[in-house]
Amino acid sequence: MKYYDKLIFELSKEGRCGYSLPDNMWEENTGSIPSGLRRTSVPRLPQVSEVDVVRHYTNLSDMNFGVDTGFYPLGSCTMKYNPKINEEIAGTAGFQGIHPLQPRSTVQGVMKLYNDLSASLSAITGMAAFTLNPFAGAHGELTGLMIMRRYHICRGDLKRTRVIVPDSAHGTNPASATVCGLEVVQVNSLPDGTIDVDHLKTLLDDTVAGIMMTNPNTLGLFETRIGEIADLVHGCGGLLYYDGANMNPLLGVVRPGDMGFDIMHLNLHKTFSTPHGGGGPGAGPVGVAERLRQYLPLPRMDGEEPEENAGRISGFMGNFGVLLKAYAYILMLGRQNIRMAGPLATLNANYVKESLKDCYMLPVPSVCKHEFVFDGLADQSTGVTTLDVAKRLLDYGFHAPTVYFPLLFHQSIMIEPTETESKETLDAFIDVMRKIAGEAAEDPDLVKSAPHNTPVRRPDETAAARHPVIRFQY
Ligand SMILES: *Cc1c(COP(=O)(O)O)cnc(C)c1O
Repeated sequence: MKYYDKLIFELSKEGRCGYSLPDNMWEENTGSIPSGLRRTSVPRLPQVSEVDVVRHYTNLSDMNFGVDTGFYPLGSCTMKYNPKINEEIAGTAGFQGIHPLQPRSTVQGVMKLYNDLSASLSAITGMAAFTLNPFAGAHGELTGLMIMRRYHICRGDLKRTRVIVPDSAHGTNPASATVCGLEVVQVNSLPDGTIDVDHLKTLLDDTVAGIMMTNPNTLGLFETRIGEIADLVHGCGGLLYYDGANMNPLLGVVRPGDMGFDIMHLNLHKTFSTPHGGGGPGAGPVGVAERLRQYLPLPRMDGEEPEENAGRISGFMGNFGVLLKAYAYILMLGRQNIRMAGPLATLNANYVKESLKDCYMLPVPSVCKHEFVFDGLADQSTGVTTLDVAKRLLDYGFHAPTVYFPLLFHQSIMIEPTETESKETLDAFIDVMRKIAGEAAEDPDLVKSAPHNTPVRRPDETAAARHPVIRFQY
């Protein structure tokens, strides 16, 4: 262990200090703080110099992995590079200093930005109107389902309480439907990974509120029968909800509105380049077709409050910093260049898939969009699992892909390279994946005991999630 791998509490030395604060000018007023709330002992803080603090945090950041550190092919998450100019713009003093309770007349620039961003998102998706209020993809799903519900209720169609969700869906889809008080009905996939339309037909009746789909679906496959699915669901009186977290490969190529979807959300923190992961700030704007405009939640950009509104899902009008970054990203690329993102993401995914399919099991061999799924190593006799491969990748400096999702296969490895990676980076990743497959055959224990050179090896992931230790005790 290097000296500075020690925790900052261990570096603490009585009396050492890295700051100087002005004298406490409120000393005589502390009497107004109720005695029960007053500190009786000195807080136990580490006593360290400024240089110790700087080194502590710099070394901690070195132990982390991010998009700025290396290739991050985490399927479904679209971990693409986020241009730094977005951060600079979001940090502009005029934008940083505004307050959500400011009178509208003083934030007209922000209102214009909201308007222009909504218009851009409408042009990109083919939806008539957007609310920018939701804070995340899942929050957008809930908002969209509230709109769906409100639409049926306002028509007096109270029987419609079931939502159809494919078995390959992202876990947030059934969760959002349940939170919205709707009943989830599962539609199966065919062996080729697309929705079983014959099964769907057996589920459609006058209790169906709608269907939730993502296209391309979680296997990265385009649902080519979407037109037929839209006719069937509309024919039974239901609405189509589009989970737009997978919009990246479609940018400038196909629009959900043209596919027949009535409501959708976008993950601005995936497709429109805001750093995410670790629960960072997001935005999940929801778009609707013209006939659903009046159901958009409050507060609204037009300041109107139609009776049919789906309610309030946030105090104010969304996560402004994230909206600003998405706006900067869209303007920076422009109408022409934004069309290149989707095809490049698709090309990169297919390149990696084709280069590895002799070493890894490819359950669905068709052309994919932005991502694809392997079902573990082609040679399963070695006992090396998907988890082992993922851990071994860390030794080689790559973030692991998404593992054990989707649940359709036992050894899922879900890879999404995104459009921002060079051919050299993709080739390096392919080399390492091939090398790991070789190691699995020749020296399986090496892979099973990986990672060998990361600061933390194999934590108990369940315990870490259930009983996180987030404080150093001393
Ligand atoms: C990421 C993702 C979501 C959820 O988005 P959050 O912002 O994490 O709530 C929903 N659906 C799909 C397909 C996703 O990839």
